[in-house]
Amino acid sequence: MDKLIITIASTGNVPTRKMTPYVPVTPEEIAEDIVRCCNAGASVAHIHARDADQRPSYRAEVFGQIFQRLDSAGCPVIRQLSTGARHGNTFEERSQNLNLDPEMASLCTGSTNFPNMAYVNTPDMVDFLAGVMKDRNIKPEIEVFDAAMINNALLLAQKGLVEDPLVFNFVLGIRGALPATAKNLLHLVESVPPGSRWSVSVIGPQHVPMSVMAMVMGGNIRVGIEDNIYYAKGDLATNVRLVERIVRIAREVGREIATPDQAREILGLPRRENR
Ligand code: ZN
Repeated sequence: MDKLIITIASTGNVPTRKMTPYVPVTPEEIAEDIVRCCNAGASVAHIHARDADQRPSYRAEVFGQIFQRLDSAGCPVIRQLSTGARHGNTFEERSQNLNLDPEMASLCTGSTNFPNMAYVNTPDMVDFLAGVMKDRNIKPEIEVFDAAMINNALLLAQKGLVEDPLVFNFVLGIRGALPATAKNLLHLVESVPPGSRWSVSVIGPQHVPMSVMAMVMGGNIRVGIEDNIYYAKGDLATNVRLVERIVRIAREVGREIATPDQAREILGLPRRENR
């Protein structure tokens, strides 16, 4: 079995300081938290940025400040930028941060009803984002909120817009999308092409048991305050604690943790001159 890749989703679009004092929101806080999580065993950082009022920001400048701080800390984590829509939904807004040439970026291949909004990814937007990632040598992580999004990813592969190995993240437990059940995870895993890499990201209290299921099935795991502000009922999480728990469980079940360079190998990331 491959080593386990842990992705830290530290911030997301939704959590605010009012909801939890532990969510990092400034570039300094986000970078510092990522460094701590990387030291604890995370090899990929799924990164969102916020403006001075904690609102989601699409601006490459803010993402760039996070990059600079990761650079000066010498942090080897794989940087995966979100291209999610809450901060604006024009082609320019959705893709501006890709100008920073991260190694990876998220790519959602369909639309979903979130609790209070529709998360819209039109076919031309999906093709556009995939095309920019391809041109810039950025590996997409295909975000799957619904089984149909796997099929959409295969159509992108047919068009040559995404390349093997395909990398999927299955997002379960969002109200309006797929519930976090063992049956749903099994179905998704069985629906991706052989050789694909996959991780699971679960919103809600099922995130621990579903992470354990992914771990023993050979999948990877995303954790973080983006997905869960609670570590357990009534106990607000820190990002580091969420990573540390997965590392502890992995040790107990005999799954070794991937370093960032091992994760690059497993995910088939393009070689970069600056690495
Ligand atoms: Zn995200």
